[in-house]
Amino acid sequence: MEYNIALVKGDGIGPEIVDGAVTVLEKVGEKFGHTFHFTSYLAGGCAIDATGVPLPPETVEGCLASDSVLLGAVGGPKWDTLPGDIRPEKALLGLRAKLGLYTNLRPARLYPALAGKCPLRAETVAEGFDLLMVRELTGGIYFGDRGRRDGKYGPEAYDTEAYSVMEIERIAHVAFSAARKRNHKVISVDKANVLETSRLWRETVHRVAEQYPDVTVQDMLVDNAAMQLVRWPAQFDVIVTTNMFGDILSDEASQITGSIGLLPSASLGDGTRGLYEPIHGSAPDIAGTGKANPIATILSAAMMLRYSFDLPEEAACIEAAVDKALDDGCRTADIAAPGDGILNCAGMVQAILDRI
Ligand code: NAD
Repeated sequence: MEYNIALVKGDGIGPEIVDGAVTVLEKVGEKFGHTFHFTSYLAGGCAIDATGVPLPPETVEGCLASDSVLLGAVGGPKWDTLPGDIRPEKALLGLRAKLGLYTNLRPARLYPALAGKCPLRAETVAEGFDLLMVRELTGGIYFGDRGRRDGKYGPEAYDTEAYSVMEIERIAHVAFSAARKRNHKVISVDKANVLETSRLWRETVHRVAEQYPDVTVQDMLVDNAAMQLVRWPAQFDVIVTTNMFGDILSDEASQITGSIGLLPSASLGDGTRGLYEPIHGSAPDIAGTGKANPIATILSAAMMLRYSFDLPEEAACIEAAVDKALDDGCRTADIAAPGDGILNCAGMVQAILDRI
């Protein structure tokens, strides 16, 4: 098969980690008989420098015309003092909106070889963990009515949480379908003891669950979920939740894996096109030093194969090569223990290529 992939390398370490992921995709393409065509587009600080805006129209058109988009990271101190509407981060929000991406998938997994990097006690993670956070991305309090007004105690501000049945149903379907490809368990996180939107969330998730009798569903209040993630992370398979709860819990889940340099993400909409990117930023402090860990971006490319191109075997091949490299002791600086030999970004890419 042939696939057109838009590359948005961005700023800082973005270009080197995306280039690494491209070589991995090319190797997998050779092995399984696929051709990937890559076209690069500007977004973020480099786009501001070249065109004056963080998200040029040709980037949006190119991404819309592609089968899927692989993104590095945007931003850096050079652009930090620009006004809000021409900041590099605007490119991300703009791309998500233009591509209609309402689902964010973030796996968080503890690699046995890196258990020592996990900030939780060894006995808490003795079973390891491997969870998938499914976060609603375009609704809820981040997009609701907001403003300032005179209130009971003088000037006040307000933000409004609103969810429609349609928005909850579509994200619930994503979560239940994902659970079918994993361990058939969904935990739906809400605050139904207080919030009316959460009561609608809960009702709707359970109604959707009836269509997935092979998947178990359990409700969990968000405060309890925050505790359970650090108490017994192995109990989670798929977590589905709102935009704000997902924002907070996905950062908590990533932190307990021990390295943000390892974690991929996918943002999806109704079709098969998605936006795949590492969860970390452009790491300006190490840009140009070769110290970037390319694994999060390489695993994002694997997610693209699985979720956008329906190539699970090819995705698993990349994931297995990453596992093997880590098991064999290959380490970039961010995941090294004292005394470990350290690979640079290109060295880690090569170590993964050698294991495909
Ligand atoms: P960051 O994720 O870029 O870096 C945090 C720390 O983690 C740094 O010490 C960095 O060196 C390290 N790190 C991150 N990725 C790494 C990797 N792959 N390998 C090794 N070490 C890695 O977060 P930050 O410093 O808060 O933000 C830097 C810039 O990135 C800012 O301009 C911010 O706005 C932007 N940012 C962009 C995105 C995105 O494009 N999606 C996300 C977050 C932050």
